[in-house]
Amino acid sequence: MTSATMRAWQVRAPGAMPTHPLELVTAPVPEPAVGDVLVAVAACGVCRTDLHVAEGDLPVHRPRVTPGHEVVGEVVALGPDTVSDLRPGDRVGVAWLRHTCGHCRFCVRGQENLCPQSRYTGWDADGGYAEYVTAPADFVHRLPDGYTDDEVAPLLCAGIIGYRSLMRAELPAGGRLGIYGFGGSAHITAQVALAQGAEVHVMTRGAEARELAVTLGAASVQGASDRPPVPLDAAILFAPVGELVLPALEALDRGGTLAVAGIHLSDIPSLNYHAHLFQERQLRSVTSNTRADAREFLAFAGRHRIEVTTPRYRLDQADAALTDLSSGRIAGAAVLLV
Ligand SMILES: [Zn+2]
Ligand SMILES: [Zn+2]
Repeated sequence: MTSATMRAWQVRAPGAMPTHPLELVTAPVPEPAVGDVLVAVAACGVCRTDLHVAEGDLPVHRPRVTPGHEVVGEVVALGPDTVSDLRPGDRVGVAWLRHTCGHCRFCVRGQENLCPQSRYTGWDADGGYAEYVTAPADFVHRLPDGYTDDEVAPLLCAGIIGYRSLMRAELPAGGRLGIYGFGGSAHITAQVALAQGAEVHVMTRGAEARELAVTLGAASVQGASDRPPVPLDAAILFAPVGELVLPALEALDRGGTLAVAGIHLSDIPSLNYHAHLFQERQLRSVTSNTRADAREFLAFAGRHRIEVTTPRYRLDQADAALTDLSSGRIAGAAVLLV
């Protein structure tokens, strides 16, 4: 495969999407290094983090990186000396987290998501907006049965991160969960919470997103910063909008927790201690995920059918997909079919 080439998208000059498009190039098919597998990409989800990489909200970690970290495909080769039970032909997922050191104080206490040496697909290394991708075998996931490639792709970040966010929000059994912003991750997380017996209230702007929330079983649907009809036990902020932290904290009942799901958030306006935090309300961030989170969530998705709404794009339409995401035109989680 030394001379083989593939199509791949690269972030040429990070900037606002319509004026700083990605570039579609012909590149060599990557060689799997020691410990890696080479995966032929079948589908890749389009995540808001890809937009943050493309638009420069996140610093450049690898010049001309290929975005994409919700990769579904087939193992086609193992790197030299790769020790793994994966074999060519296996259907796998490549997700955001792709390296941790394994021995720092965070790794050894089960918080590898906080490892200072952690590396990420589609940011530190080339991702799945391409026909092939390599990934460390230890960070490649087996996928639940019963989902098509485009249905399972968004589970790999939107699903996993949403699942961790739900855990960070510490929703009590049968409690009331508020969801602020209703895109790819939120519409999956709402279904997880509903399957666990929660009452779900959705605050979001888009008409299509509101419709989707109702269809999935939300108890109420309001505008982006509106007050839900009941005080919330927990809330998750999915929209990358710092201003929404205030109404979300105000909507919490005593002892409630707000988890911010995104990797990037615009500035939070100043808080008033009594209006926003007193009575033991908590504000928490969510940083990436552990492999244990991923395994737990993918097993959950194997037991509970999740209906993933996936507007589909061809690989050569990746820039259009990102533009649509940035302008709020996508209901559900967009997927590139390769
Ligand atoms: Zn570590
Ligand atoms: Zn993501």
